[in-house]
Amino acid sequence: MAKNKQLRSARRAEAAAGKAQIVATAKFPTRFGRFTIYGIKGSGPADEAVAIQHGRLRRGKPVLVRIHSQCLTGDVFGSQRCDCRAQLEFSLRRIAKAPSGVVLYLAQEGRGIGLINKLRAYELQDRGLDTVEANRQLGFAADSRDYDFAAAALKALGANSVRLLSNNPEKVSQLEKNGVRVVERVPCQPPASKHSRAYLQTKKKKMGHLLRSV
Ligand SMILES: [Zn+2]
Repeated sequence: MAKNKQLRSARRAEAAAGKAQIVATAKFPTRFGRFTIYGIKGSGPADEAVAIQHGRLRRGKPVLVRIHSQCLTGDVFGSQRCDCRAQLEFSLRRIAKAPSGVVLYLAQEGRGIGLINKLRAYELQDRGLDTVEANRQLGFAADSRDYDFAAAALKALGANSVRLLSNNPEKVSQLEKNGVRVVERVPCQPPASKHSRAYLQTKKKKMGHLLRSV
């Protein structure tokens, strides 16, 4: 117990030196398994994230990690326009079965453009644009997310070296640039629904996501 406390305070000190700090910790039983939930804050007003961790992280051992960007329509309502909830559940199952792992949940709705703009983009997609064209028509990049804070949050948890559940090579390179070592990219591709197939094909063709045939 004392050792845990010591480790936690060391991590808090380390994180304060970086850009993220653990500000709350609680037990978190879920239908996928038993986790610990962390509230993490950074220096910027938007730098807030939740992490749920399964098992104990060991120094020097790569941690199985999913970095998930918030998707209200998918994660909460079960939308099939995207594959977010399927990826989240796939990751939670994988991590709950592994000796240890982390899901870091970031408030970057709609690949960083916000919820209402995401709905505007859906409206444009209903008129025939794909997800990249729709975002551009609204004046945004295809993907406005960045992972600087995510990297700081992982370091705050002690996950300096990770096996990353992701299909997104940009996520891998941003983490590495920010000092988190990605020793392996673990594909995160649950079966696609017929509604999300076109969306996934656009992610593959236009955004370089590494997806098997969809
Ligand atoms: Zn989504």
